[in-house]
Amino acid sequence: MKVLVPVKRVVDYNVKIRVKADGTGVDLANVKMSMNPFDEIAVEEAIRLKEAGKADEVIVVSIGPAQAQDVLRTALAMGADRAILITTECPVEPLTVAKLLKAVAAQEEPGLVILGKQAIDDDSNQTGQMLAALLGWSQGTFASALELGEGRAKVTREVDGGLQAIEIALPAIVTADLRLNEPRYASLPNIMKAKKKPLDQKSAEDFGVSTAPRLKVLRVEEPAARAAGVKVGSVGELLDKLKTEAGVI
Ligand code: AMP
Repeated sequence: MKVLVPVKRVVDYNVKIRVKADGTGVDLANVKMSMNPFDEIAVEEAIRLKEAGKADEVIVVSIGPAQAQDVLRTALAMGADRAILITTECPVEPLTVAKLLKAVAAQEEPGLVILGKQAIDDDSNQTGQMLAALLGWSQGTFASALELGEGRAKVTREVDGGLQAIEIALPAIVTADLRLNEPRYASLPNIMKAKKKPLDQKSAEDFGVSTAPRLKVLRVEEPAARAAGVKVGSVGELLDKLKTEAGVI
C-alpha cells in the first residue's frame, strides 16, 4: 500500500512573525521557512507504517514555490521514498490544494493519505476534510493514534473532553495531531542519500486545476500589545481586584 503525505512549506514555528508595514500580509523577506510541524508528524507516521511492514512506499507532495523542494528533501531524508513538487506562482488556498491532491491521489492510488491537522501559517484546518469530501473517502481527523488492519484503520481522535476511537474503511484520509508521535531528526548520511531520491516536478496547470484565489485578504494586523501586569501585596488585594476590576469572580 502507498501512503501519500502532503507537506507544506511555512514560516518556521520559532520565527517571530512581522506584519508588513502596509498591512497587506506577513513579511516573508529573509524569514526562515520549514516543514509545517504537523506534516513532520504525518511523515513520521507514514515512515513508521513502512517500517512496520504495513506500507510499501511513502510519497510526499508539496504545492508551492520552487523552494518547497527543501521541505520535500527533508521528508526524503527522514525516510520518504519519493517526492512530487507541484509549483504554483501564487499562494494557494485549501480548496485548490485539495483539488490538486485529489488529482495526485487519482494517479498514485494511495491506500492512505496522512496530512497535518492544520498548517501553522493559515491555521485553516480544512485541506484534509475537503480532500476526503472530494474523493468520497472516509476521514479520521486530529489523530493521536493510528492502527492499520485489513482494509480498515482504527483512529484515536483528540476531541473536546477526551479521546474518540473510530474505525474507518480504507482508502482513507487521516490528519495528524500533536500527540500522534515524535518525529525523528534526519541523520547526516540520510540527508546526503535524500539528494539522490526521485523528486518529480509538475505545475498546477498539468492537472488542469485553477490556482486563482477565491478569498481576498482585506488587512493583516498585529495583535494588540498586552498591558503590563501589576504586583499585588496580598491575597485579599488580589481577590478584591478580581472582583472589582476584572469582574471575574
Ligand atoms: P490547512 O487546511 O491549510 O490548515 O492545512 C492542513 C494540511 O494540509 C497541512 O498540514 C498539509 O498536510 C496539507 N497542506 C496544506 N497546504 C499544503 C500545500 N500547499 N502543499 C502540501 N500540503 C499542504
